Amino acid sequence: MNLDSSPIAAIATAPGRGGIGVVRASGKDLAPLLAALFPHTALKPRHATYIDFKAADGAVIDQGLAILFNGPHSYTGEDVLELQGHGGPVVLQMLLARVLEAGAAAGVRLAEPGEFTRRAYLNDKLDLAQAEAVADLIDASTEAAAKSASQSLSGAFSKTIHTLVDQTINLRMLVEATLDFPEEEIDFLEKSDARGQLAVIVDSLDTVFRQAAQGALLREGLNVVLVGQPNVGKSSLLNALAGADVAIVTPIAGTTRDKVSETIQIEGIPLHIIDTAGIRTIDDAVDQVERIGIERTWGEVGKADVILHLLDASYGPTGADEHIVAAFPDGVPVLRIWNKIDLSGHKPAVDEAPDAVNVYLSAHEHDGIDLLRAELLRIAGWQQTGESLYLARERHLIALRAARQHLDMAAAHAAQSDQSLDLFAEELRLAQAQLSSITGAFSSDDLLGVIFGRFCIGK
Ligand code: GDP
Ligand code: ZN
Repeated sequence: MNLDSSPIAAIATAPGRGGIGVVRASGKDLAPLLAALFPHTALKPRHATYIDFKAADGAVIDQGLAILFNGPHSYTGEDVLELQGHGGPVVLQMLLARVLEAGAAAGVRLAEPGEFTRRAYLNDKLDLAQAEAVADLIDASTEAAAKSASQSLSGAFSKTIHTLVDQTINLRMLVEATLDFPEEEIDFLEKSDARGQLAVIVDSLDTVFRQAAQGALLREGLNVVLVGQPNVGKSSLLNALAGADVAIVTPIAGTTRDKVSETIQIEGIPLHIIDTAGIRTIDDAVDQVERIGIERTWGEVGKADVILHLLDASYGPTGADEHIVAAFPDGVPVLRIWNKIDLSGHKPAVDEAPDAVNVYLSAHEHDGIDLLRAELLRIAGWQQTGESLYLARERHLIALRAARQHLDMAAAHAAQSDQSLDLFAEELRLAQAQLSSITGAFSSDDLLGVIFGRFCIGK
């Protein structure tokens, strides 16, 4: 990733056609670019000016709005210029080319992926967790995910983390002050109620972790694999589960022949459902490309969070079902779905057998589907608490978990009779470092590269 601070420009709106499209530029000082682009007009900051976008020879490329934001009062914290033109790919490319040409003498270059947001981070407009939330909001696939991302973007998650960091720092300062007076060390823990303070921090951290873990669920969802003999009702069940929810169809790349994967949502949690009936085996593959596609799909099956094994309740298991069961990966929860109870006469029900949970339902009659939805939510670990959630990333959960371990170690040191305040303080320091990494206090260039490299150009 380019780290220089030269002015940058890119098309900020999505590729394709639209009513409007935006070319955005950012730099410490955009005055030279503005002088070249609009020699006869001085843009008033934060005001929309209707203006001709002209090529070097004076020909009009497009007409639209130009808006200038002077740094630091802008998205990136630098000067930012937005040109809103018509949203056609060709006209926007021409406009971008014109900006690059007009700004060439001033060093304007094409932006790297995520570079606008990276600059916002480096100029303290956003912290790292907020920058990640920008990408998450843009990528959100459900309304619940978008709400949580927006919550993180507004800084609610960061604020909670900062509070934890502050509490940890306070306790550290107390401990470290005592370290300078060894004679007081002995009863420090009693007098200052250090254990009580630590317990309060642990308690808040557990709450944040729960909110973050639930939020991560909204982001990642659950991988569900549907297996069963032909005609047991797999497709019918998928439709019944999707119900009134908008089913977002996402065919897995490489398996163009069969649609084998769909994403539906239950209470805002994305369920990525793979219907194994559509997956061909490697032996059927006609060429290398298809082999790769098939291998990738079976790889997805290996990552299942839950397996739905469908059986015909009016028929019972067949010999082939024994083969299916034998192929299940260890440790993955299995829901044994007895479908077509309208034919068999069973009642809709859930019962827990030692090897699997049995669910009796009728996909066709939509009977017992709510039981299955509840079972899936239970397996996902979803709790309807009503508290606000943070659309956390795996990185955040790992840091929170590590911080929790250091706090536990600190508590263990405090519990020993020959209390070692040195070690107590050191564990607090390590916990604090983990928490700070979430909002980016000590982030490495590698981490920044990973986070911002995943953005598209123009973000
Ligand atoms: P798949 O091959 O496993 O995907 O099965 P389908 O979903 O295509 O269903 C096969 C047949 O079973 C269709 O004719 C469905 O209408 C029927 N079917 C599916 N679910 C039920 C059910 O709950 N009750 C009854 N009576 N028929 C069902
Ligand atoms: Zn089917």
